[in-house]
Amino acid sequence: PGRAAPSGSGADTHCPYCALQCGMSLTPAPPEVPDGGASPRVVVAPREFPTNKGGLCQKGWTSASLLGASDRLTVPLVRDRAVDAAGAVTRGELRPATWDEALGRVVRGITAIQAESGRDAVAVFGGGGLTNEKAYALGKLARTVLRTANIDYNGRFCMASAAAGANRAFGADRGLPFPLADLAGADAVLLLGSNLAETMPPAVQHLAGVRERAGLVVVDPRRTATAALTGAGEAGGAAGAPSQGLHLQPVPGTDLVVLLALLHVVWAEGLADEEYLAARVSGVDDVRRAVAAWWPERAETVCGISADELRRVARLLAAASPARGGRGAYVLTGRGVEQSTQGTATVTAAIDLALALGLPGRTGSGYGAITGQGNGQGGREHGQKADQLPGYRTIGDPAARAHVAGVWGVDPASLPGPGRPAVELLRSLGTPRGPRALLVHGSNVLVSAPNATYVAERLDALDLLVVCDLVPSETALRADVVLPVTQWAEEEGTMTSLEGRVIRRRRAVTPPVGVRSELWVFAELARRLGSTVPFPLDPAEVFDELARASAGGVADYSGLSHARLDADEAAGGPGLFWPVPAVSPAGGEAHPGTPRLFLDRFRTPDGRARMVAVDHVGPSDDVRPDAPVYLVTGRVLQHYQSGAQTRRVPELDRSVPGPSVEMHPILGFRLGIQDGDPVRLTSARGEVRAPARWSDKIRPDTVFMPFHWSGAGSVNRITTDATDPVSGMPEFKVCAVAVAPDPAS
Ligand code: SF4
Repeated sequence: PGRAAPSGSGADTHCPYCALQCGMSLTPAPPEVPDGGASPRVVVAPREFPTNKGGLCQKGWTSASLLGASDRLTVPLVRDRAVDAAGAVTRGELRPATWDEALGRVVRGITAIQAESGRDAVAVFGGGGLTNEKAYALGKLARTVLRTANIDYNGRFCMASAAAGANRAFGADRGLPFPLADLAGADAVLLLGSNLAETMPPAVQHLAGVRERAGLVVVDPRRTATAALTGAGEAGGAAGAPSQGLHLQPVPGTDLVVLLALLHVVWAEGLADEEYLAARVSGVDDVRRAVAAWWPERAETVCGISADELRRVARLLAAASPARGGRGAYVLTGRGVEQSTQGTATVTAAIDLALALGLPGRTGSGYGAITGQGNGQGGREHGQKADQLPGYRTIGDPAARAHVAGVWGVDPASLPGPGRPAVELLRSLGTPRGPRALLVHGSNVLVSAPNATYVAERLDALDLLVVCDLVPSETALRADVVLPVTQWAEEEGTMTSLEGRVIRRRRAVTPPVGVRSELWVFAELARRLGSTVPFPLDPAEVFDELARASAGGVADYSGLSHARLDADEAAGGPGLFWPVPAVSPAGGEAHPGTPRLFLDRFRTPDGRARMVAVDHVGPSDDVRPDAPVYLVTGRVLQHYQSGAQTRRVPELDRSVPGPSVEMHPILGFRLGIQDGDPVRLTSARGEVRAPARWSDKIRPDTVFMPFHWSGAGSVNRITTDATDPVSGMPEFKVCAVAVAPDPAS
């Protein structure tokens, strides 16, 4: 059972990093605990929780070091600017300041800029790691105090295409609309573009059953640790793989073709669940006609997967479907297929495939997206997204505006409309019609945004850059004002896991003297900017307001409170999945939450899921003679996102201290690059440098670089900022590069 411990005595809480939100217990560290270079203030122990089943990865085990980071920010910093006689602006060094001076500078800057250039001249950039309470309060600050349309967040980089596809098909987007543990009972899982064995290793436990039944199919241009779980392609199977599934290694940027071919086979061989389609799905005929053109032999010429393998996968999935007497099947997508200019189309094709087989809205089967960031799910529900209000409501919907404005006590007409999505917002900074000030919370865009060199130029063109952070991240070091804020084990709040399970984050240690919660920062900014809109400081009170604002929305939290979540956990409950309306459908007892969505009907107006016909266009930056190699980016086990946190954990930094360029030995021989040699990658946006790391697990036409570092090896300097036309998500996962030995090293 969980326990809500008083501050300073330890607590049952969850990992500060990814969306698996592994359960862990924190207890105060005795003085003799070795610190490995940092100073842990708590000891981490894994805790039984349904997503991690008592497991933690290396990041979770070492997370206590974050609390003792040697360069933890504890005082605000400000940077002075001077204007010389010719009008040239020079920027001084960041220097310590009082909270009063720092906030005064922010308020004066915002006031002057909005007076000169309008409300939208101040922009806000949030993060998918913020608690639900902070994400909600940040959206409220933007809409009621700053009254700017320009708010978006880094979730646009990682979940927008999955959200757009799911919303269009199902009328609701909850990454996994079923508990993760449901995967254990399936006969087949098709996993597209997710390396969960490295990014969230404890999740692999849920694939044990499907691996035993030889039903795991992984689609990835690299033979990742996850692809190796299939056992495919290895004599006797990989270690621990009792039998063989399939690993498909398509040409980067052609995942959509794989899916279109699978759909073709499903209909060509009479494998579709026609009874389910007739009863629960619309748009079927359009899709059936569209995929008729993608017979496997044609698809093979584009994606490189043999027609035989494509047929085998379609038959395997169909055999696992309930319609054909199987235990069940799942189609799951991750960033590998979503971070693409055709990401929404690819997700849509994955959903179309799941629908053709009759999987979504059935216990034991379905479609889901493996969300990445810690609060990637909650982060998209409470109003820090450009087009949304709390409760996952659409900002342009008059009823939604009226409801939320009522909770906030403001005139609905005063709420701004939708703003620019993240990449467009970053590109517009400091341009003649773009924002002149930016407030950044929980995001390190100088490392994590695509085409990051251009992002740096845009940040430098601002009149005011304000960053709230724990540590001097690359983005914070470029700011005019840096505000030091609390983190993870220093604060109370809630997060929402990748399955829509709302969980409690608990305070285990007292924050360092000098740092403040963002909730206090938002309240103080509102007060100093003359707003009368209340901003509570107590996270439980903020949550209660968030719950009221969400009432009746898709992500309805109105039946939840910190007290209810604590009581549920203390009673050994499995957690509560949204929607949790305040009123139970049956009356009487509190609503039990909704572990599985869509069992009776989808959330569309007519209750039917929508199939949508899509087609393959190809990557925006495709290979060509001067850039003949595909670049794909991603993560390594030891680091999380921009690395601002994990690079400060000594054990993780020692394990993987910097980036490398993974390439096949065949490519290395062709280019005269040996394992360990310095390499230069050049794209249309610039160049990066890192040592080569030979691996026969990657396609010979492709190189891979992780994105956790800054400097010369910061791969996002060369990724493209082309975006998906529906979701606004950037195409991190494929661009064209020239690869050469690095003469400068
Ligand atoms: Fe679990 Fe993710 Fe934390 Fe690893 S990083 S311990 S998988 S929540």
